[in-house]
Amino acid sequence: MSKRLGTLVVLAAFVCVAVGPVSLAGAAAPAATPPIPQRPAPAVLDDLRGPRASAAASALPLTLGALGALPLTRETAAFAAGRVAVAVVFVESDGSVDRSTENWSRPDPANPGNRRANVLAKVRSALAWWNARSPDGSLEAFLPAAGQYGAPRTGYTRFEPISRPVSQFNKDYRLSDAGWRWEIMGRLGYAHDRIDDRPLPERAYAAKVRRKTGADWAFVLYVVDSLRDADGMFRDGAVAYTADLYGPYMVLTYDNDGYRFRHFDAVLAHEMGHVFGALDEYAPPRPGYPSTGDLTSGYLGVRNRNAVKGGTTHLPCLMRGSQATVDAFALGDLCPSSVGQSGLRDSDADTHPNVVDTRPRFDSAAPVVASSGALTVTGTVREKPWPRGTSSVGIPFGHDISIFVPHALQFRIDGGEWLPLVAVDGRFDEPVEKWKLTTAPLAAGDHKLEVQGTTGEPAGFVKQVSASP
Ligand SMILES: [Zn+2]
Repeated sequence: MSKRLGTLVVLAAFVCVAVGPVSLAGAAAPAATPPIPQRPAPAVLDDLRGPRASAAASALPLTLGALGALPLTRETAAFAAGRVAVAVVFVESDGSVDRSTENWSRPDPANPGNRRANVLAKVRSALAWWNARSPDGSLEAFLPAAGQYGAPRTGYTRFEPISRPVSQFNKDYRLSDAGWRWEIMGRLGYAHDRIDDRPLPERAYAAKVRRKTGADWAFVLYVVDSLRDADGMFRDGAVAYTADLYGPYMVLTYDNDGYRFRHFDAVLAHEMGHVFGALDEYAPPRPGYPSTGDLTSGYLGVRNRNAVKGGTTHLPCLMRGSQATVDAFALGDLCPSSVGQSGLRDSDADTHPNVVDTRPRFDSAAPVVASSGALTVTGTVREKPWPRGTSSVGIPFGHDISIFVPHALQFRIDGGEWLPLVAVDGRFDEPVEKWKLTTAPLAAGDHKLEVQGTTGEPAGFVKQVSASP
């Protein structure tokens, strides 16, 4: 590993800092196979790109309008609750520029079977890990099914990505992942910006995958083949990385350097932590790297207290990196800092994470009494999202976000049968809706009106109304 370090000092984005050789737990080879040669230990990932450079995005105008608290098109991930579509792209070289050295159809003697299917099994394992961290099952990360938009697919490029660097965009886009990403996104119909690669074309792809699958969030997972590559690293030492906090894409190699294919799921789960807003906790691999204990991150704006540098706790955690990530994945360890940053914090311990522990809020006008004694009441209902916190890294959220629109809207008089409220525009499908109710003719005098609806939780109001003219 040290031979690389000289070259890597000059690389701003991906310095692969190796730790000393440490044997992986349970890594002993089966008796029938030759001994596994000395492998590097899982590297410190240095895997979160972009949070410093992305502040400009906050200057984009917010066009909330009818969306209310719902996520905007460019907000393709915010927290670990709701349905999360994962759009897997297997990157395949076609040999037309670089000599093709990797081929997904080549078998891996150490991991028999269809390699793409094996990768998808690891992906499902990582998704299941995160889903199991959700105390109320409100997180459902999933792979779109075959035939659905965003289902696992193979994307072709003229380059051989593993033989190239991924971080030297400023020198030449072909010395960065843009060389092959742009080709793949271009073929899917997503344009790129040649100047600065912003907005990332994967943002638009993820937004469409989200829409087509009915998910709340989506991100893109590129899997770059590295079966034959000697170290499973890109030319500049990068192993696996996420474009930025909250996505929209991440890159993993088939065997991720010292992590090897066996721990693909642990590495993916770690990268997903970034998509949900969690920071790394390992010591900063270079000055300014956002993994220190003074930082806040995530939708809720939670301190990085479990950071090796500047933290106050030292708990086992998926975001610690290297062997600690592998161990935490095996044991299901996510420290309170990462729980908070990823939006899984449940302040009132009712099993619902704060971000989905929301209620609708009602306003209503005074009832209008018809000569028959029937009451007509109109009003509005709106989701009251959990308020966003303040983050010191990443793109700040410009508005409070909820994945819910009010539903199950109903009313009753004097404790009678619940009846549906009517949406003035015909459907309750927006975060803010006008509603209307009309009662049967009521006897003159006071009556008890109850109105309720649900977002994360049900809520409503009770009101004394008079049916006297
Ligand atoms: Zn990381």
